[in-house]
Amino acid sequence: MQTTTINTPFGPLELPSIPEEASSKLCLTLHWAASTYNVSSFELTKYHFVLGADGAIHKGVPVENNLSFAGHPRPANYAAHVLNANTNNIGISAASMADAAEVEARKGHYGTYPVTEKQIAAIVEIAAQMCFLWNIPVIPTRVLGHEEWDSVNGRPQDRWDVNCIPHLDIRPHLNADGTYDSTNWIRSEIRKRVQALATQSRPELPAGAMDDVDAALKVLYTAAQTGLPMTPDTRRTALKALNEFNGVLVNLGFK
Ligand SMILES: [Zn+2]
Repeated sequence: MQTTTINTPFGPLELPSIPEEASSKLCLTLHWAASTYNVSSFELTKYHFVLGADGAIHKGVPVENNLSFAGHPRPANYAAHVLNANTNNIGISAASMADAAEVEARKGHYGTYPVTEKQIAAIVEIAAQMCFLWNIPVIPTRVLGHEEWDSVNGRPQDRWDVNCIPHLDIRPHLNADGTYDSTNWIRSEIRKRVQALATQSRPELPAGAMDDVDAALKVLYTAAQTGLPMTPDTRRTALKALNEFNGVLVNLGFK
């Protein structure tokens, strides 16, 4: 598969080109590994990307090993990071939280290896780059914490990653019952980053492009108004200009 390497503050991120058939179903699952800060070879067989305490990206299982599309059945050596839901599901995990427990964490005790701010920032960056590259909407059914597979997609997991993190000023995110939901907050951060990426990559209109589009619209309008057939040359020129304009609209996110 063709890959794109994206330079991030957490190291290079290598992502394959994925056919729309698979990318349109792709999910991103956010985890912590219930491990120490050591990124072990075991963790690298469970996830596609594992983050060290400083957020550094460690490449695990190749993304394509969890993909399934025409001509590419899911390989046997996929990353098994979610129970009964690993096909077209990418796992990003922070090496952390070895001896943490939800009840204690909700009281503010996260154990010896609390998930770090840099790890959360790296999760946001990686997920945003993927969402941008593969056009994944940042919605709970597609970008979700491991814990949410039960409530959102009906696959019980009995996990709590990543719904309780130590360094979030949680007050604005409190639910009515006093609990909080850091996964929603992480998703909103991912959404912001995707929007920033989309803005940065907005292409400049090529010189004369709007003139071409104007000319093409005039030709089509005249043809429609008069009912006169266009010459093949005029039609070709008009369609080419409109096609380019269509590409610009897609890139700007209007289509
Ligand atoms: Zn998990």
